[in-house]
Amino acid sequence: MDYAPPKNFNISSLRRGVGEHPHRGFETVTFAYQGEIEHRDSLGGGGIIKPGDVQWMTAGNGIVHDEFHSLEFSKKGGIFEMVQLWINLPKKNKMTQPKYQGIKARNIPTALLGKGTNLRIIAGNFRGINGSFTTYTPINIYDLVSKKDEDIMINFKCGTNTIILIMKGEMKIENSVFKKNHILIFEPTGEDIAFKACKGFKCLILNGEPINEPIFTYGPFVMNTKKEIHQAILDFESGKMGSINKY
Ligand code: MN
Repeated sequence: MDYAPPKNFNISSLRRGVGEHPHRGFETVTFAYQGEIEHRDSLGGGGIIKPGDVQWMTAGNGIVHDEFHSLEFSKKGGIFEMVQLWINLPKKNKMTQPKYQGIKARNIPTALLGKGTNLRIIAGNFRGINGSFTTYTPINIYDLVSKKDEDIMINFKCGTNTIILIMKGEMKIENSVFKKNHILIFEPTGEDIAFKACKGFKCLILNGEPINEPIFTYGPFVMNTKKEIHQAILDFESGKMGSINKY
């Protein structure tokens, strides 16, 4: 998880971001919360991820892309806040065909919890509502915004891993208070997570079944063995992962 907390960027004619680079063996999931990210990839895909939008890119056997602040955002400047997740793929799917899907904020299924709390179902399922994206292993991804202080209860399967990233406000669990820019990592033994969302709470909730396979990672590649990493580097350098046209 890479979280870029809210930060002000001045007007700029420079393109801030990451130039052309490859990925293999996993998926990148990018959330724009404030500001805009522009993306292009070697499949010919591309677009601008605006606040509330989510982009899901399956690198699979190899993709090359770039990621920048959008030109529009750079021209205007302002607050930028985003999250990028790297979601591992199981061994049997690491070399799947790459693909990319962008979902607009308005198309993300939302559950209303209480009077002032919206929970968006990005992936997986929440109380019978299916998320926007399908996943290779069982995963639930929600984000939640609470305008009023609210008691919230979420339920996950025993044996799964859960992480909550607090982006705004506070979260009370029993007698403990957790504040923004912290993550909570839960023991995989329980099922229910009960908390009180306070002070304009915003969080990202990640839950998944452990893959339990060896991980060998190097730079932009996430594989199972060192040998597979060497192969990934060779394949990228020989152009097998494609490239994107320059401006
Ligand atoms: Mn990337």
